[in-house]
Formats: sequence, C-alpha cells, structure tokens
Amino acid sequence: MALKPAVSGNDINGLGEAAFRRPTWVYWAPDPDDIAHGDMQRWFYSVRPDEPALIKARAERQVILDAPIAELADSPIEQSDDAWLAQLRRFEADGTCERVGVTGLDPDWLYAGYKRAFSNVVICAVQHDYEEISKAPEPDAGGEVIRQYGRAAGAAKQIAGWLRSQGWEAEPLTGPMAGKLTMIPPALSAGLGELGKHGSIIDPAMGASFRLSAVLTDAPIAHTEAREHGIDEFCRNCRICEDACPPEALSADKQQVRGVEKWYVDFDKCLPFFNQHHGCAICIAVCPWSRPGIGLRLADKLATRAARKEAEG
Ligand code: SF4
Ligand code: SF4
Repeated sequence: MALKPAVSGNDINGLGEAAFRRPTWVYWAPDPDDIAHGDMQRWFYSVRPDEPALIKARAERQVILDAPIAELADSPIEQSDDAWLAQLRRFEADGTCERVGVTGLDPDWLYAGYKRAFSNVVICAVQHDYEEISKAPEPDAGGEVIRQYGRAAGAAKQIAGWLRSQGWEAEPLTGPMAGKLTMIPPALSAGLGELGKHGSIIDPAMGASFRLSAVLTDAPIAHTEAREHGIDEFCRNCRICEDACPPEALSADKQQVRGVEKWYVDFDKCLPFFNQHHGCAICIAVCPWSRPGIGLRLADKLATRAARKEAEG
C-alpha cells in the first residue's frame, strides 16, 4: 500500500464519467514507468518469486512468445468471407483454442493514442482447467492463468501466421501486458458471451473462466454475431462473486464508466489483494457458469423461460 500512487485507478479507468472517451492503460504496462501504478506492478513480481508452478508456466509461455511468425506471402489469396471463417474454425477443431470469433474493428476499442490500422479483429478464447483455477488464490491457479495466457498467445500467433501465409497482413495481440486493444468489447461483439458482474465475460460453453487474445487483420473473414443468453439479467439476481470477493471490489449495480453503464470491478480495492496473492481468480472460480457442464444447461433454462414469457405476452 506504501507504493499506491496518489491517483485512483478508478479515475484512470473513468469511473463515474458520463462522456465517452477511449481507455488508457491502468496496469500491466510493458514498461511500468509508463503508468501511475508502475511501482505496484513491479512489486507484484516480488511475491512468490521462487514458486515452481509459476516459474515453469512462465518459462513455457516465454517459448511461445519468442517463437517466430510466418512471413507475409506476396499475393493475397481471394475467397469468400464464409470460406475464410470455415478455415479459421479449424483452430477450434484442432484444439489450438476453444473458440474464435470475428468482428469489425471499432476504433473506440483501441487505447488512447493508437490508430486503427486494420479493419477486422479475430478473437481467440482459451479455457482454464476448472480444477486448477478453483485453487485461487493459491499458486497453482496463478500457474494455470499464465499457462492459458501462453496458449492464447500461441493461438493468436498461429492464426496470424496462417493469415500471413495466405498473403494477408495480420498482427497478433496477447495479454496480460496491455497492448493497443481492449479485448472484452470485440469479444462481446464477436459473440463470445456477455459481461458478468465480476468484470469478466461469461460464455455458456466456457463459463467465466477463459482468457482472450486477438489478431488484427484486413483478411475479409465473415463476422460472427453478438449473442444474448440472459446472463446480464442473471447477474442482477446473483451475488455469489460479490460475496466471495475478499476486498469487496464488486458492486450490486452497474456503474457509469467512460459514458457506458456496465459491471465494473473497483480497481483500487481489487489490486492490493490481487498483488498480495500474486494474482486472484476467486470471482471467476466461484461463478456458477464456470462449473463444468453447468453453463449450457443454465443458458437452455434461461432461453426456455424467456420464450415462455414472450408467449405469455
Ligand atoms: S457469480 Fe453470479 S453475479 Fe457473479 S458473475 Fe457469476 S453469475 Fe454473475
Ligand atoms: S480478482 Fe479477486 S480481489 Fe479482484 S474482484 Fe475478483 S475476487 Fe475480488
């Protein structure tokens, strides 16, 4: 707490601001000197530095991050946008990632200072192992988060490499370090779920327990549709994550953030606990949607209830 800057992370995030503006980095800056909370970010790495689960997961992720990407082929392959999407889906089929989605790149999703250089964004999602993530905030859960960030990076690099080999420029973006793109809005737009009260996306098939990466490209891939499953309404009547969050960083109601009413995690309350435990995923581990086999059944029930309501007028 001695390293806490004078400025609130919630102010940086635009909590309470009625007008829209693009986001600015609040944490996970590639260079900690670029952000107000940089000293806290450095301190994070001083916690559990000798933990084998974390060292192993980081080393494996680094191999993925260091791997080269295919060169850009001279002439772009032309085919229908549906054919591109069908080919992209093979990365789901072969287990490179659990889901892909595609949407047009909205410049509002770029962090302040970045320009839109591509027309489309491909989103990749990789799911945590539920047993491992359920150990949060113990180190095994942290290791699983790092492992899945590595898988997400690998998926984005493979997809970018494939597009480049087809003659289309493509740029992979991977977490957890902040880059040019906020990934949640394009993931929602591409149909990968709805935003949950805990500030993470919930998808019926993957629950709340997955990580994202992205590929920016001009390849004309068909877009996937945003979908509503009734999760937003479900969160209004559930408070499991709210009650489980040790520093009480989650709120019962949505809040105004840079002109948008949405679920919001109180950054100033979450961060000290998150840092102290070298990561925390309690809110996503306790979310009922994260339990294997539950999400699709819940979505079915909500769809049946909504259809009944509509029929009753
Ligand atoms: S625990 Fe409940 S309120 Fe929290 S995100 Fe999951 S469903 Fe929504
Ligand atoms: S990550 Fe942990 S501290 Fe942060 S909101 Fe979730 S449960 Fe709370």
